[in-house]
Amino acid sequence: MVFKLRPRWLQLALVALIGIILVLGLGRFPSIAQEAAAAKWKIGTEPAFPPFEMKDAATGDLDGFDIDLIKAIGEAAGREIEFVSLPFEGLIPALQSKTIDAAISGMTITAERSQTVDFSRPYFKAGLAIAVREDNSDIKSFENLMGKQIAVQIGTTGAQQAGSVKDAVVSTFDSAPLALQELVNGRVDAVVNDLPVTLFAINEANLKGVKVVGELVTEEYYGIALPKNSEALAAINAALETLIQTGVYAQIYRKWFVSDPPILPTIAPSLISPTRSGLNWGRLFQNLLKGAWITILLTATSFFFGLIGGSLVAFALISPVRPLRWLCRAYVDFFRGTPMLVQLFMIYFGIPAMLQGLGFEVSFNRFFAAVLALSLNVAAYLAEILRGGIQSIDRGQWEAGESLAMNPIETMQYVVFPQSFRRVLPPLGNEFITLIKDTSLAAVIGFEELFRQGQLVMATTYRSFEVFLAIAIVYLVMTSIASICFKRLEAYMDPISRAKKLTQAKASALPTTLPS
Ligand code: GLN
Repeated sequence: MVFKLRPRWLQLALVALIGIILVLGLGRFPSIAQEAAAAKWKIGTEPAFPPFEMKDAATGDLDGFDIDLIKAIGEAAGREIEFVSLPFEGLIPALQSKTIDAAISGMTITAERSQTVDFSRPYFKAGLAIAVREDNSDIKSFENLMGKQIAVQIGTTGAQQAGSVKDAVVSTFDSAPLALQELVNGRVDAVVNDLPVTLFAINEANLKGVKVVGELVTEEYYGIALPKNSEALAAINAALETLIQTGVYAQIYRKWFVSDPPILPTIAPSLISPTRSGLNWGRLFQNLLKGAWITILLTATSFFFGLIGGSLVAFALISPVRPLRWLCRAYVDFFRGTPMLVQLFMIYFGIPAMLQGLGFEVSFNRFFAAVLALSLNVAAYLAEILRGGIQSIDRGQWEAGESLAMNPIETMQYVVFPQSFRRVLPPLGNEFITLIKDTSLAAVIGFEELFRQGQLVMATTYRSFEVFLAIAIVYLVMTSIASICFKRLEAYMDPISRAKKLTQAKASALPTTLPS
């Protein structure tokens, strides 16, 4: 009795202690946060937009026009700057939730965005331009993009413009360099992106075989974005004004663009006659359904090939041929030991780029690349599960096969594999459910599956909570259905419950009264 009381005592004391710490901690939190906020500005940026923001290859530090500018602004305003790297389409949600104080990321001041965030005065004049491969002679202007394949960066003004082109097939990527890589690899006809960034990629970053065509598609102004009604807005605007007046702004501009800066307006023209847009539930639902269908297709195809591949590798892993065993072990270790994301990038971007470097004109179809990467990955996991299943079958079963004059292949086919398959059904179900969720990684190669479809809606409406909740619900429905199906299959394949059902069925088929 005494021993039983002790842990309960301890538990109570522990709960009380945690309670006290929480109450004290929460009480202190706001003041700690406020103190930090007064000293520092947390600035969000997506560092894959050179020359505005990028990581210095040598030092790994952030570098670029925007970075220099915001550091100078911080200095002028007497604030320390702390950078937070975020995906571009995640910057506005981060401002909405106030996890960052401001964002500087070559962000165009648009009327839609200004419904959710506030912008500083314009600090850079840019515009969208079209990039094509050097050997392309049929795209010369925006009108020529009709019916063409276009790559863009998700959530950008370029994506929005490309979306307005009739009959064009638009693929969205997480960053501008990836969209340009897609063009170099020859899978799209054009990229619509901010001119200074495309020019920098061609002239400074050595992007080969790409040229800019036609005139500027749009004229845009970049602004620093802040949460609505942020107190920092006035301070940032004042500091920016000082930098322009004192010539520090021009100095930074010359450092990066080797020319004098243009005169900037004090208010972006796009805000003078703003348009309105909002979340359209019908459109969200339609897009998510479209995405869910692609997710199902990707999962089913990859699992099918993964299961075939995994079974073959499992047999090879227990085969007596030593080199084959080693080869398959290396394959399994590689695909289990490296992130799926890296494998996807390697197959989709890396291999074609490497082969093109060697002079072969190769590019993978997106569906093929996604299925290949997912199947290779899932096959590695399934191989281990199936191998474990096969080895768990009692040796006596092999001997039984032998005594029935079966050869090893027949014993495997009719005796061992069916039994081990039933045993491994629960982990197979787990793998299937994991695969449903992992298909969302295909979004990085521009695949518009469920997750990317949601991201696309989010990128134009900025209603992150509703959109991501809707995505989560659709995934949950799909994984729940899969889990029910696997449970059913397990029950169906269970010989004991099947035998019971059979006897029950036979019993109920018997006449209840004896014939007289
Ligand atoms: N200027 C473009 C936009 O605001 C692209 C910005 C970026 O990718 N960092 O949409």
